[in-house]
Amino acid sequence: MLLTIATTHRPATDLGFLLHKNPARAQAFDLPFGKVHVLYPEATEARCEAALLLDVDPVGLVRGGGGRRGLLADYVTDRPYVASSFMSVAIARVFGSALGGRSKERPELAATPLPLEATVSALPCRGGEAMVRRLFEPLGYAVRMCDGAAAPAGGQDAGQTEPSRYRNLALEARLPLAELLTHLYVLIPVLDNDKHYWVGDAEVEKLVARGGDWLAAHPERDFITRRYLKRRPTLTAEALRRLGDEADTEEGGDAGSSGEESGEDSKQGTIAKDREQALEHPVRLNDQRMAAVVGALRDADAARVLDLGCGEGRLIKALLPVRQFQRIVGVDASVRSLEIAARRLKLARLPTAEPGRVELLHGALTYRDRRLQGYDAAAVVEVIEHLPPHRLRAFEQVLFRFAQPKTVVVTTPNREYNVLFPGLEAGRLRHPDHRFEWTRAEFAHWAGRVAEAWGYTVAFHDVGAAHAEHGAPTQMAVFQRCA
Ligand code: SAH
Repeated sequence: MLLTIATTHRPATDLGFLLHKNPARAQAFDLPFGKVHVLYPEATEARCEAALLLDVDPVGLVRGGGGRRGLLADYVTDRPYVASSFMSVAIARVFGSALGGRSKERPELAATPLPLEATVSALPCRGGEAMVRRLFEPLGYAVRMCDGAAAPAGGQDAGQTEPSRYRNLALEARLPLAELLTHLYVLIPVLDNDKHYWVGDAEVEKLVARGGDWLAAHPERDFITRRYLKRRPTLTAEALRRLGDEADTEEGGDAGSSGEESGEDSKQGTIAKDREQALEHPVRLNDQRMAAVVGALRDADAARVLDLGCGEGRLIKALLPVRQFQRIVGVDASVRSLEIAARRLKLARLPTAEPGRVELLHGALTYRDRRLQGYDAAAVVEVIEHLPPHRLRAFEQVLFRFAQPKTVVVTTPNREYNVLFPGLEAGRLRHPDHRFEWTRAEFAHWAGRVAEAWGYTVAFHDVGAAHAEHGAPTQMAVFQRCA
């Protein structure tokens, strides 16, 4: 699999700063499914071209799957050769900063539209050239398709050729590099439409956050989203473990850049969570929060309860002893958190008298999901502040418009209280993953609008001891559906 990216912006070699990869040095990175090489076939002031060559290891894939036939074995046909979700994972892993629009050395250039050319070899084109054009042209690309070199018909007949459904794609546009990378990241798997080697919706969520509004405004938005999400991650546990790092990496740290190691991110996530807990420890806020949410769900007479963004299962643990809660379903975008939740809750060893009382689902809260319908109540505990603000509307619709539980309990930090945490610098948020923290007025404003829009009433409660001026550390809203 080969992807090239070139620019004629002068000095063109600045591309190296944008990609965080030195044009003078070929580099190789190990991924769970093969090796990625980054090299520069051309690096002059007038034109600079970077190539990302992905060498998928089909044998390793099968062996990694324990030798069983099944999902991973399926990759041993055209998988190593064609542009697919493997390429997207490679882009995220090797060009993570560029994908996020960050450049240490050339921050302003990262945001500047540049003359860019990209080629993708052996792109599987279901739907033909017309489909490729419908996907890329609305984004401003000049699209050229070249007849693919006749591609191998399959693993067995690698030498034999047949008319190819694979095409080589050349794109040209003037736009910031991050946008080009995001478009490729999403659209290559959409065109492939085979099983996607994602770990899941966390990946999707990240890219939607990064991609900003282009997808929302794209005429083929629904098609793209459907294809992208079509093969929901029913990957084997084996595959999930192999990719666990990608799944939970909030910012997709660059392999090989600035000494940041890929595994680091999840470790940092845990440290950050610990820091948040340490910060809030003196008020034992977490216990109070769980008690408040359990109380609100109890008061609502809920029997079937969703825990949206359940994380490692702390609320579920508090719900379990209460017989009133007959069905408890946790949903989270992080596979790793779900694995920890399953372990902590000892799901495998729950009494057989209660089969199906607790279930954990992998899913994103910003995509409509039928599985969330038919519940009495949903708890969303310390989750909204993790969502990119421009995705809040999507979340709101998923929950209040489509899932429509009778009761919704939402908790979120009260930013006004932060001045009372001795360990927290002024102006800082409690957790580096928080996209925002709201004052009481901001939360009331959001909740009031949501309630009004979707036919709910809303009441607010303090969680934790309230300070006369700054209020309580956590704020909780309880929504009740009107009809
Ligand atoms: N409710 C839990 C966890 C809070 S941390 C508790 O109180 O302990 C926030 C959680 O939201 C994380 O587990 C994170 O993976 C999840 N999350 C963030 N964005 C999400 C999204 N878009 N879809 C689903 N889960 C999400």
